[in-house]
Order: sequence, then structure tokens, then C-alpha cells
Amino acid sequence: MIEVYNTMTKKKEEFKPVKEGEVGIYCCGVTPYNHPHIGNARPFVTWDVIRRFFAKKGYKVRYVQNFTDVDDKIIAKANGEKSDWKTVSGRYIDSYFKVMDALNVKRADVYPRVSETMEDIVEMISGLIEKGYAYQTESGVYYSVEKFDGYGKLSGRSLEDMQAGARVEVDEKKKNPMDFALWKAAKPGEPAWDSPFGKGRPGWHIECSTMSLKYLGKTFDFHGGGSDLIFPHHENEIAQSEAYLGKNTFANYWCHNGFITIKQEKMSKSAGNFFTVDEILKEFDGEVVRFFILGTHYRSPLDFSKERLEEAKTSLRRLAQAKEAGEEFLKRDGNSDSAKDVLTKAKEYWKNFDEAMEDDFNTAKAIGEMFSLAKEINVYVAGNNAPDKADFAEVMKIYSDMAEILGIFEQGAKAEDGLTEELMEFILNLRAEAKKEKNYALADKIRDGLKEIGVIVEDTKSGAKWKRE
Ligand SMILES: [Zn+2]
Repeated sequence: MIEVYNTMTKKKEEFKPVKEGEVGIYCCGVTPYNHPHIGNARPFVTWDVIRRFFAKKGYKVRYVQNFTDVDDKIIAKANGEKSDWKTVSGRYIDSYFKVMDALNVKRADVYPRVSETMEDIVEMISGLIEKGYAYQTESGVYYSVEKFDGYGKLSGRSLEDMQAGARVEVDEKKKNPMDFALWKAAKPGEPAWDSPFGKGRPGWHIECSTMSLKYLGKTFDFHGGGSDLIFPHHENEIAQSEAYLGKNTFANYWCHNGFITIKQEKMSKSAGNFFTVDEILKEFDGEVVRFFILGTHYRSPLDFSKERLEEAKTSLRRLAQAKEAGEEFLKRDGNSDSAKDVLTKAKEYWKNFDEAMEDDFNTAKAIGEMFSLAKEINVYVAGNNAPDKADFAEVMKIYSDMAEILGIFEQGAKAEDGLTEELMEFILNLRAEAKKEKNYALADKIRDGLKEIGVIVEDTKSGAKWKRE
């Protein structure tokens, strides 16, 4: 049984798909006006693993993630650099893909953009006006929060509390200070689109209501994003979608990931403790960053530091070494030693891994199970002469299934493609030749040089062997 923590009900609930065997996911994407920071990356890595987990279980997954390519921040940036919103959003959408590729995040099935969904957005706003949930002023079209009974049900706030805490904006035209813009009337120097309510552009929240409805239908399974989106963004999405559809659910499970903190403080641009993924990738592989993110349950805060990344790097290397050792060992011929015990244990760890993932996608616990299996693989490899091929292959298959769900070892395998092996053979042959010619100084120089880059050379009776430090 898959259980999911639902922000709407504030408890774990059994997952029941809208359509048997299928999963529909909408995750709020980025506003492309700068390079993605590590906080941006967290929801996408999280949902990437959730997708993989469902796919592995045989579900047909449909994953939709938007780009808010028309937005105040993009327009401000474009004006600042004397270009246009298309140039700015295009540049940072490219940057987004580059970073997500590095983090081994699979592509969404659809990436709708505001600029390409304008007709549908206008249609939805018209519908909300018709149904009496929205009204027009000279500055645009606003959603009337008082008209929607359930306003505040996701964030658990009451309208009175919100109003008490609201910053008083000087816009007397709004009926209630909490009313939010669905359509912003055109201003000079801003991009604008035609609509029945005059030239203008959409507010932020309406796009996600429109896009999720368009690409996932009237009811779908998961709506995700960072917990900073609960209010007002997701609260407003609910108000819009449910009022428009005339029903009281649209996404069945609302899932929100925790913040990334730095020295226990919330990361923010204003606090100056802000890291773009690009910067981090100069020092660490994308898989390390990914593994670091997955090492903490998605709902918990995740404290970012170089030390934690170093730890993730070491841990990931240990897992990779077990994979290499196991795969090498599997190729070895000879008297096979029973792998029955290790297979029994592997099946147990797989069951635990699966249960951890079924329990609100607990990747941290799942990784722990993978470590237990890595240890068993190492013990079996070290203690035996040759593998029981059928059983041990099954063990290694379980190990690679775990890796597949976590999305690790995929880039390393691509990057190495056997070249490392060949290069190392070549270098060790050169060293052997140097020794043969009694050029021990050169042979030692090669060995020491390799050690410096993390490769250990051991001279054995059957020639030199190498391994990673
Ligand atoms: Zn959204």
C-alpha cells in the first residue's frame, strides 16, 4: 500500500489513483529569470524519483511541469538589459534544462508555457467571471476570495486572519485585500495579449489551474511543489480550479517538499546565502548533488553545506564500488559459491526499500537499505572464488533496480563507456615495460602519479592491478 502525506488533510493517506494503473502529476515549474538555485532543484529531483518509483511499479506516469515565461520578474530583467521577455525566458529555460540534465532528471511529458497557453487561460478567466467568482476593474480582473467557501483550506488559514496580516495595498478597486489578479491590464513597456477584458497578461496563479486542467484533466493524482507555494499559489489554484469546475477536488494529493537551509537558516537571495546549481556543479558531479538531495526525506528541511556534499560524494562512491565489484565478480569463472544467502538478504532489502518508498517516498530510508545490500555484495565478493551466476545475477539486478529508482549510476556509466578500463590497461602496460627495462624510477613515477589522482596500483603475482581509492 502506497501512503502519501497530503498537505490538504495533513495526514498520510492511502494512494488511490484516479485511473487504475495510471498516475498524473503536476509540479509547479520555474519562472525562468535566473539560473536555478539548489532550492529550485529539490522538488524536481524529488518528483523525478517518485515518477521512477511509480514507473517501476508498472504505472503509466504522466508528468506535467510548467514554465512561467511571462512574469513581472522576467519583464523587469528584460527591461534592465534592454532585451525582451522571450530572450530572457529562453536563456533561463536553456539553463534550467542544462542543470536538470546534470542532475539526471528525466524530462517531463509536457512543459506548457504561459505564452503558449494564452487562449486557454483567457477562457478560464472568462468562465470565472461568468460564474461570478471574478470581477473586472481598470487594473485587471480579480478573483473574489469571499465567493469561494473553501478559501484557506490548504494552508489552514482563515480569511479573517489573512486580512488581519495582509499588507495593505493601495488598490481600493479590489473588493477584498486578499483578492488576487487573474489578468493584469497592459502597461507601457510590457508584453500584452488580446482578451475580452482588454489587452494584458495573466496573473501567476491562473496558469497552473489552466495547464493542469488542460494536460491532466478535471481530477488528477498529485500536485506538487515547494512548501513556499502552499500559500498563496496553491491556495489560489484551488480556489480557481474548484470554482471553475464546480466541484470540491481537483488534485487528490497535495505534496510539498521542505526548504533547503544553510546553517539552519532559510536560503534566500536577500540573505545572501544563495547557491546556484551551476556553481555547485563546478565542484561536484550532478549525481552527487542529486544523491545529497535524496539523502533527506523530501518533507524535512535539508541543510546544505560543502561538508554534506562531500559526505554524499563518499557515500555514492561506496555504492558505486559495490556495483563495480559485484559486476566484475559476476564475470569471473570457476568453482561457483552459493549465493543463496546473499540473494535471500537482497530480497529482504528490496522489500524494505520498496516499503520505505511506499511510505511517503522515504528516499533516505531506501538509501539505507541499498547500503545494507552493498555491504552484502562486498562480503560475498571478498569471501568467494567465483559467483553462483544465476543467483548472484539476481542480487545485482535488485541492486541496479534500486539505483534505477534513485536515478544514480546512470551518468557514470555513460561517461566511462569502457574507456577508463582501456586507458588503465595501456598505462599499466607502459609501466610494466619500464620495469622490464629496469627503469624503476619511471615505474614508481607512474604509480605515484596515479595515486595522486585517486588510483591505487597493486603489484600482484599476475601483474599490476588497479582500483579507485
Ligand atoms: Zn504553479
